[in-house]
Amino acid sequence: MQQRGMVIVGAGQTGGRAALTLREQGYDGRIVLIGDEPAPPYERPPLSKAFLTGKAEAAAFTFAAEDALRKAGIELRAPARAAAIDRGRQEIVLAGGERIPYDRLLLATGRAARRLPLAPAVADRVHYLRTLADADRLKQGLARGGDLVVIGGGFIGLEVAASAVALGCRVTVVELAPRLLARAVPVPLAEIVAARHRAAGVELILNATVRALGVAEGGGLRVELLDGRVLAADHVLAGIGAVPRDRLAAEAGLPVDGGIVVDAMLATSDPMIFAAGDVCAFPCGNGGLARLEAWKNADAQGALAARNMLGAGEAYRELPWFWSDQYELTLQVAGWPERGARLVERSVPGGRLLFHLDAAARLVGVSSIGPASVAKEVLLARMLLERGLSPAAAQLADPAQKLKALLR
Ligand SMILES: Cc1cc2nc3c(=O)[nH]c(=O)nc-3n(C[C@H](O)[C@H](O)[C@H](O)COP(=O)(O)OP(=O)(O)OC[C@H]3O[C@@H](n4cnc5c(N)ncnc54)[C@H](O)[C@@H]3O)c2cc1C
Repeated sequence: MQQRGMVIVGAGQTGGRAALTLREQGYDGRIVLIGDEPAPPYERPPLSKAFLTGKAEAAAFTFAAEDALRKAGIELRAPARAAAIDRGRQEIVLAGGERIPYDRLLLATGRAARRLPLAPAVADRVHYLRTLADADRLKQGLARGGDLVVIGGGFIGLEVAASAVALGCRVTVVELAPRLLARAVPVPLAEIVAARHRAAGVELILNATVRALGVAEGGGLRVELLDGRVLAADHVLAGIGAVPRDRLAAEAGLPVDGGIVVDAMLATSDPMIFAAGDVCAFPCGNGGLARLEAWKNADAQGALAARNMLGAGEAYRELPWFWSDQYELTLQVAGWPERGARLVERSVPGGRLLFHLDAAARLVGVSSIGPASVAKEVLLARMLLERGLSPAAAQLADPAQKLKALLR
């Protein structure tokens, strides 16, 4: 009989980090990491930035290369798809029928790019960006230059827009909402992002709905907007969000609610099964569930899930934090800005730094934009938040008041 052990489904940031952490924690049993991509675990952030512009190759952001996994005694099964969980027998069933037994199971299946409902002839020509294979295909397309239409003014779409400009493409971004980054970024910062894209020659079409996509007579693509406008495109990228890959869990009878529902220890309703990273919905401290799509969260939850699979019983306490690089600007959002009732601005050279205070004047979020020179101030601002400190608004706003001094 096969030895039981730790099984991880999904060899992304979360799954890869969890596998490495299990060994770092001294676990000496069997570890199986199952991934349906052909590549070993790699970081996704460079896909829309340095990889697309040719500044970094995949090896540079592969954080658990096959060699390292082999040395750590981690069995990478890739490409292999987990098709079902047999909870009664504590086994994962692969698409080919093979069964892998587990003592503890981690579901780290992440998200998939949301697709546009399109006829097959057009669907094959539209790009999405989630995987290295997607990025490779997009990179080859953009290398030919021409017109790129980006559908969706969120992070992925805007990062690709900035990279495509660097590659010499003409770029148009079509966004449904009246502004960019409506889901996660406060208005003043989103306006700076919009201005920077316009300065780079990107056309932003806001308040616009794509009605249809088709193939034009010359072989290019036609993007028809609801208001009758027609955009000609050599390439189309749809960056319209990502959906949790929670089907395995749902079919196994585990609760899902916009992601696999876990407790503060990242355990599902089955104590043998954990879920972490982009695919999970976890308690966020105000009685609700958070569903984050961010590198830091994936990495930290992967490590914590591994410790908890070994019985540590630790609650997840990391502060949400994500960044987005576009042109020379880095945008950062930390904490829970949506819980804020009031914005306090601190002047920082070359950028903007906003503190989000709730109705009781508690610091609940920090957001910023700027070149690398603002990074230090932002780091201190995040530390205030992490430590649960709430200095007076006047102190936060006063550039003569050192943030470091407020940390004491
Ligand atoms: C292009 C891009 C740029 C990004 N840039 C940033 C950034 O600048 N800053 C930031 O904070 N965050 C960024 N992110 C978000 C960050 O990369 C994600 O939050 C992180 O990758 C989530 O990791 P994960 O392991 O939970 O999920 P994923 O990365 O989605 O990995 C899940 C893996 O599981 C596999 N899988 C799913 N189902 C199965 C199955 N049944 N069997 C086997 N394998 C399966 C998937 O194929 C995938 O390989 C970016 C994401 C993308 C796509």
